[in-house]
Amino acid sequence: MKMVIPDAALLAQWDRVRDQLLKEYGEATFSSWLQPLSLVKHNNQGHVVISAPNAFMRDWVRDHYFRRVESLLKAGNDNIRKLELVVSDEPQPHRATGGGAAEIPADIADIEALGAQLDPRFTFDNFVVGKPNELAHAAALRVAESPEVTFNPLFLYGGVGLGKTHLMHAIAWHIRKCHPERKVIYLSAEKFMYQFIRALRFKDTVSFKDQFRSVDVLMIDDVQFISGKDSTQEEFFHTFNALVEQNHQIIVSADKSPSDLEGMEDRLKSRLGWGLVADIHPTTYELRLGILQAKGDQLGIRPPPKVLEFLAHKITSNVRELEGALTRVLAHATLVGRDITLETTQEVLRDLLRANDRKATIDDIQKKVCEYYNVRVAEMHSPKRARSIARPRQVAMFLCKMLTPRSLPEIGRKFGGRDHTTVMHAVKKIEELIAQEDSIREDIELLRRMLET
Ligand code: ADP
Ligand code: MG
Repeated sequence: MKMVIPDAALLAQWDRVRDQLLKEYGEATFSSWLQPLSLVKHNNQGHVVISAPNAFMRDWVRDHYFRRVESLLKAGNDNIRKLELVVSDEPQPHRATGGGAAEIPADIADIEALGAQLDPRFTFDNFVVGKPNELAHAAALRVAESPEVTFNPLFLYGGVGLGKTHLMHAIAWHIRKCHPERKVIYLSAEKFMYQFIRALRFKDTVSFKDQFRSVDVLMIDDVQFISGKDSTQEEFFHTFNALVEQNHQIIVSADKSPSDLEGMEDRLKSRLGWGLVADIHPTTYELRLGILQAKGDQLGIRPPPKVLEFLAHKITSNVRELEGALTRVLAHATLVGRDITLETTQEVLRDLLRANDRKATIDDIQKKVCEYYNVRVAEMHSPKRARSIARPRQVAMFLCKMLTPRSLPEIGRKFGGRDHTTVMHAVKKIEELIAQEDSIREDIELLRRMLET
């Protein structure tokens, strides 16, 4: 059946669908995945074709948004029977120049020495995929496998211990194995800065620049580290641009999204967001359980399911802690030569479990502290500064900072609308006192124990 380019009516309808998608999925998802789709053609049998800029995006859209797009299109037009999603066949700008088999340059050893060691455990095989890290994993795999640069840079971000470094190493391992001719360099932003400063000191910036600009794949981990470090940022920015211009792949990780990176120059932030930004969300119970099982399998140990479930429920902060907990339980069992049980697990991890249990609220803390010092809660909120009340108030603020995830301004507000600097001052003061006076240290210890159990 003959396909024709869409007419104005269909295009107008497509615009309405897009508006609706924007509303439903929000700006970030829309601009990453849905906006790049275009309506390419249709025929008089109600067959409509839309395209995505590359295969990776096509697959992702197909798995996540396609059904919604289709149902919106059909809902707005009875004639539409079938929607098809293809990869756009327009030539893409900036293709890799390719060329015959690249020779391994003599300075490859130097280049790799510039980078950091890769952890042999951090491979794709050892990475457990779940909802929270699905996108980051898919993008990392894509970059590792693809001979062409699909999105530049790939920006991975997420909280500590959620697998950013693991994924970066996995990409590097994969490329080194499958494309040994490609020069891959992986290093932390800290090390990048250190190398740069050293080059400045030895007046060797020319070869520094040459070295970094000659790599095929540059990976910088924890880029937030160069926040506020202006000259390193400047250098990174130039390296970045040089590599992008040559269509070489850049992969960056950070603890925040590009736009949330503080102390970063705007032009760098915006550059970092140019490619694909993929975040790793906090773990879910299912993912934690999967990771524990995988880890057990790797070690050839099968702890009772009850124990793994218990750990997955209790250690929720991040994967690093989760692994640490499992290792401790296994090590203990090996050392004392006994089976792993729920009881021994609880025993071995008592301190860790307590930290993960912290659920005290500001109100709980105020109440307990008031009971302890025999003052009224209303006095905590009052402007009174008499020492008999000021000290308990400081103790309570300190405990709020320690035991809750609340920010200083939030804490201040709950203490009669005090300023965050007052809270900061209280925290400092109590820290000093803890170092100096046994009695206050004991007070805090006791209160903490009461609040944590
Ligand atoms: P980040 O760099 O985000 O702080 P890491 O990559 O260092 O975190 O991960 C912390 C630990 O957790 C590492 O030992 C890593 O192997 C492990 N880890 C994180 N996510 C996963 C996962 N999805 N599957 C297996 N191990 C993981
Ligand atoms: Mg890391």
